[in-house]
Amino acid sequence: MSPDEQAPGEKALVPFVSVENMMALVHRIGLEPMLTGLADAIEADFLRWPSFDKTPRVASHSAGGVIELMPTSDGSLYGFKYVNGHPGNARAGLQTVTAFGLLADVASGYPVFLSEMTLLTALRTAAMSALAAKHLAPKSATTMAMIGNGAQSEFQSLAFKAICGIDTVRLYDVDPRATAKAARNLAGSGLTVLSCGSAEEAIEGAQIITTCTADKQYATILNDNMVGTGIHINAIGGDCPGKTELHPDILRRSDIFVEFPPQTRVEGEIQQLDPDHPVTELWQVFAGTVPGRTGPDRITLFDSVGFAIEDFSALRFVFDKVRETGLFVDLDLLADPDDPRDLFGMLQRAAPANGR
Ligand code: NAD
Repeated sequence: MSPDEQAPGEKALVPFVSVENMMALVHRIGLEPMLTGLADAIEADFLRWPSFDKTPRVASHSAGGVIELMPTSDGSLYGFKYVNGHPGNARAGLQTVTAFGLLADVASGYPVFLSEMTLLTALRTAAMSALAAKHLAPKSATTMAMIGNGAQSEFQSLAFKAICGIDTVRLYDVDPRATAKAARNLAGSGLTVLSCGSAEEAIEGAQIITTCTADKQYATILNDNMVGTGIHINAIGGDCPGKTELHPDILRRSDIFVEFPPQTRVEGEIQQLDPDHPVTELWQVFAGTVPGRTGPDRITLFDSVGFAIEDFSALRFVFDKVRETGLFVDLDLLADPDDPRDLFGMLQRAAPANGR
């Protein structure tokens, strides 16, 4: 409930979407319609790019990973996401990426919505990737190589099916158990799923290559000689200083598209290039003010790192949907004394009657 919807004397409560309710919401809407809906919400917000406050995310790096805060505002709503990235977590039975996020009313500063965002990040990242590819990949693309078959991979595959019309994914992971898991999860999805024994095998015949691996180093998932002309690369896993997936020679042959250059130059594949290497901002391609793919032989690269506006769009989308479906619980997150200046009196009145 936003503060202006609150009746006098009524307690201000903040709707919260738990992991359980997020799963129920995805099943209620349907996974592919949800991915499409999120892509539409992101595209709509990218089309009003100049109206957002934009800043690179605030990152706290440690030996095993990173914890990041991702804020933005459109002047009416403020949003942020808390997210981590810990490539070694999987070995301890933990997620590489976990997240939660919040929307607040700019006028009062009051939080109006809180949500889990581990699932929502996987959904919005996949929606963003497929949205970028809708504008950049060859229109005739039917096959995607999916390198890195961890938590994000099925969401990526299904978003490219729903939004770009691909019908085949070629899976590869250094860990064959991850590939077996992804193949199992995608069985019956309508995609033809092929498990491959190497990255070279996975990219055979693919018009789109998604790299979605997790390793805290300058990795080389794709070498220059592996990438032919006319390909679209969706590079997801290079999203931190010192954490990349592509050989720099690929970047020099590619038309590079990014979310927010000040963040991507620090975190993306392009951290390997000169700081003034030309890149194109995706919102301008969506708006039609600059071209995306300029010819059938071009290599287009979405150097994805994940930007705050995508999370803002995803939170806004879910906020609307849960109000329709009731899939939330109310949280007592805000102190709400009858006299705003009597916070202390509110505390005193809550003291147990017997003084204990
Ligand atoms: P995950 O740990 O669940 O999966 C990563 C997979 O990569 C694992 O199965 C691992 O075996 C595999 N892998 C590692 N090195 C490999 C190699 N050399 N070749 C092939 N496979 C390899 O992680 P996840 O949640 O799926 O996330 C994947 C990556 O995407 C992470 O780096 C994460 O930080 C990043 N990410 C980016 C965004 C974004 O918006 N750009 C959003 C979410 C996650």
